[in-house]
Formats: sequence, C-alpha cells, structure tokens
Amino acid sequence: NADSAMYRAKEAGRNNLQVFDAEMAAKAHQKLLRHEELRDAVTREEFVLHYQPQMNLKTGRIFAAESLLRWQHPERGMISPGEFIPLAEETGLIVPIGDWVLNEACRQNKAWQDAGLPPIVVSVNVSARQFKERNWVARVAEVLEETGLEPRFLELELTESLIMQDVGTAVATMHELEALGVHLAIDDFGTGYSSLSALKSFPVRRLKIDRSFVQDIPRDADDMAITGAIISLAQKLQMQVIAEGVETQEQVDFLRASGCDDIQGYFISRPVGAAAFVALLAG
Ligand code: C2E
Ligand code: MG
Ligand code: MG
Ligand code: MG
Repeated sequence: NADSAMYRAKEAGRNNLQVFDAEMAAKAHQKLLRHEELRDAVTREEFVLHYQPQMNLKTGRIFAAESLLRWQHPERGMISPGEFIPLAEETGLIVPIGDWVLNEACRQNKAWQDAGLPPIVVSVNVSARQFKERNWVARVAEVLEETGLEPRFLELELTESLIMQDVGTAVATMHELEALGVHLAIDDFGTGYSSLSALKSFPVRRLKIDRSFVQDIPRDADDMAITGAIISLAQKLQMQVIAEGVETQEQVDFLRASGCDDIQGYFISRPVGAAAFVALLAG
C-alpha cells in the first residue's frame, strides 16, 4: 500500500544519504592522504624533470627545451603533472614544488653548458600561486645567482588566466622579471581570456599556440584559421610564436607555410629524461 511504499522510499533515501556520506568521507580521507603523500614527496624530493625539445623551423636546430614535472612515486611509478598539480595548487604545495622545479631547471641547464653542450634556453611553467608570492621575483634572481645560469637562458611560461587574474600587478611583475633578463612566454595561448589590448602591454617574447588548435590540423579549417591568425598577431606584435603539440608532417608543413617560428611536440620528441635529452641535443 501507499504507506509502506512511502516508508520504503524514505528508508531507501536514508540509505542513499548514508552511502553518500560514507563516499564523501572516503573521498575527503583519500584527499587528505594524497595531500600528506605530496607533502612528503616534497621533502623526499621524489620529483624529476623531463625535457621536451623546441625546434626552429628555419634552421632545424633545437634551441630550447620545456621542463615538465613528473612525480616518481615509490609505489605508483611515474605520475604526470595533470594528476597532482591541481592538488598542489589547492594546498599551496605548488610553491615549494615550483621552487624546486625552478632551481632544478636552472641547475641542469648550467650543467649542460658547463659540459660543453650548445647553450639552450630552458623554460619553466609557473603557477598562479607561485607568481603571486610576494618575494617571487627576488627568488628567481636568487636561483639564477646560486646556479650561475645567465638569465637569458631561462624562460618562464605564464598562462593568460594567471595574468588576467590581476592584469596590473601581473604586468608590473612581468616587467621586473624582464629587467632581470629572463624571457617570458604565454603558454596555452588562445584558450584564456587575455584581451588583445592587454596583450600588447605584456613584455613577453613569445606566444605558445595551444595544442588544442594544432591537433586537428589539417582536418579542421577553423583551427587552421585560428592558428594562422595567432601567428600573424604574434608577428605584428613582434613576438616569437611556437606551436605546441605538433605531431605530424602535415602540421609542420602548414605551420612553416604560415610563418610560425618554432615547434614543439611528439613530431620532434616526447618529453624525455635529462640523459636522453643530452643525446638529442648532441645528435
Ligand atoms: P603545458 O605547459 O602546456 O605542457 C605541454 C604538455 O603537452 C605536456 O604535458 C607535454 O607532454 C604535452 N605534449 C607535448 N607535445 C605533445 C604532443 O605532440 N601531443 C600531445 N598529445 N601532447 C603533447 P605534461 O607534461 O603532462 O604537462 C601537462 C601540464 O602540466 C603542462 O601543460 C603544465 O600546465 C603543467 N606542468 C608541467 N610541469 C609543470 C611545472 O613544473 N609547474 C607547473 N606549475 N605546471 C607544470
Ligand atoms: Mg608549458
Ligand atoms: Mg602549453
Ligand atoms: Mg597546458
């Protein structure tokens, strides 16, 4: 009857709520564990940088590399940044992690130069939390000083969303960084919301065209149009332009014909460990 149906429904609802609560608690607990694990990873230095070459389309020369963070987990193996950077940002652990990355990238680049390899620029991804730290510019200067790397061999990648959170402050910080002599790039360009009028006031050397525009070239005419437009925009603003996520010869051909300066992507190499990168650079 209706009453017992109601009773059963209420009972089921209560059970669902209990299940829901238990699931939430389990998730919260798991997150706490992951936070602790990540915090320990910082002190145990379980991180490693991989390097992905960037090639100039005119000379065919590898002139730079992007450093990409990996977590070497003692049990779970190599973990990619997409899996732990969001938690690191949420918990603020990105600050010490980012500091480690900056130092390691500069140290490694200087070591390569000291070993007699052709000098390259190494770029480092910067998170919003890190960029907003009060003494961050001083910290960059300190790392360069300590590692002995000349500032012109360091590039910092900022995203549009990072800059647009507070354009005024970001542009001021960017000018301070530029004054140090490091280079700046806008990462994932085209996916954020930077206004074109703001863009011209950014002291950046180059734009990195987001992989999402590159991946469907030459199948997607719209993506080709957008990519072409970003290239002309960069040229007109006298910025360098690099395409990310380049995987095929057709993409290379299109980018070259469109006047793109440089490319990065699996077409040249996946991100690789330092030793493998040396082989790429030397060979
Ligand atoms: P990102 O800075 O845009 O880096 C490019 C990503 O695209 C890398 O993923 C790279 O492995 C991948 N990629 C490069 N070429 C190709 C290609 O041809 N095809 C495809 N399908 N993918 C390609 P990864 O290493 O997983 O890094 C993901 C993101 O994590 C980075 O995107 C960056 O936003 C963030 N990240 C990486 N390292 C750091 C770091 O040290 N600090 C911070 N704050 N973020 C980092
Ligand atoms: Mg990047
Ligand atoms: Mg990118
Ligand atoms: Mg990205």
